[in-house]
Amino acid sequence: TPVIRFDQVTKTYNTGTTALSNVNFQIFKGEFVFIVGSSGSGKSTLIKLMLKEISPTSGRIFVNRRDLSRLRRSQIAKYRRGVGVVFQSFRLLKDRNVYENVAFAQRVIEIPASQIKKNVPAILSVMGLADKHNSLPGELSGGEQQRVALARALVNNPAILLADEPTGNLDPKNSMEIMNLLEEINKRGTTVVVVTHNKEIVDMMQKRVITMNKGILISDEQKGGYTHAN
Ligand code: ADP
Ligand code: ADP
Repeated sequence: TPVIRFDQVTKTYNTGTTALSNVNFQIFKGEFVFIVGSSGSGKSTLIKLMLKEISPTSGRIFVNRRDLSRLRRSQIAKYRRGVGVVFQSFRLLKDRNVYENVAFAQRVIEIPASQIKKNVPAILSVMGLADKHNSLPGELSGGEQQRVALARALVNNPAILLADEPTGNLDPKNSMEIMNLLEEINKRGTTVVVVTHNKEIVDMMQKRVITMNKGILISDEQKGGYTHAN
């Protein structure tokens, strides 16, 4: 069974703009998928739907076998914690150090303190941040900040990681580093979905590529590239 399924999903905002038209796809456990398309093609709308920040106008979305339209309001926060997310802008707590930024994600789901003290150093070490526990985000490079964001997204062991333009603020070297980490995370069993504009990376990684154009899914290829439509 798929871990993510879009079934005839249409999203029309209340301005009248149709951001997605009848979108269908399935993503299976352990896949690594790029979602590409020019600005305004509906990529952010897809991410917001998957996080249930917005609801579709019609159609159904299933994540981890749950029909998102059937999630109760009281269940939404818990549902979101089961999906790891990273953004272009990192979204770290600026007045908290690296350790605290990651530990916070575990505290909110009430992981015992003794466990947090093991889990946080372990994931920071995987992300190559073992010597940065006490640094504030502002003292780190962009690449390091994105690795903290990845550590935070992954510390609770989500089945799915969503990355929305994760390399948008990074130079090519740091972008490659983040992509290598995403591939590593994927090899450990997490399903990874990456929204990006980065043609070089998409062409190099040779993963499944879903291409959006004006709200329509125009291609879905295994080992694809960044296509002509962009
Ligand atoms: P992308 O992430 O590919 O740039 P978006 O999903 O952000 O695309 O946008 C798709 C379309 O929906 C665009 O035409 C955009 O202007 C419109 N749109 C996005 N968010 C909103 C919103 N909150 N209200 C109205 N229109 C929106
Ligand atoms: P609490 O007792 O409030 O749960 P901890 O004992 O987990 O807090 O941590 C106290 C402070 O020490 C935190 O603010 C955190 O920044 C820091 N800290 C804890 N463990 C480490 C670590 N392995 N490396 C760096 N700083 C740490």
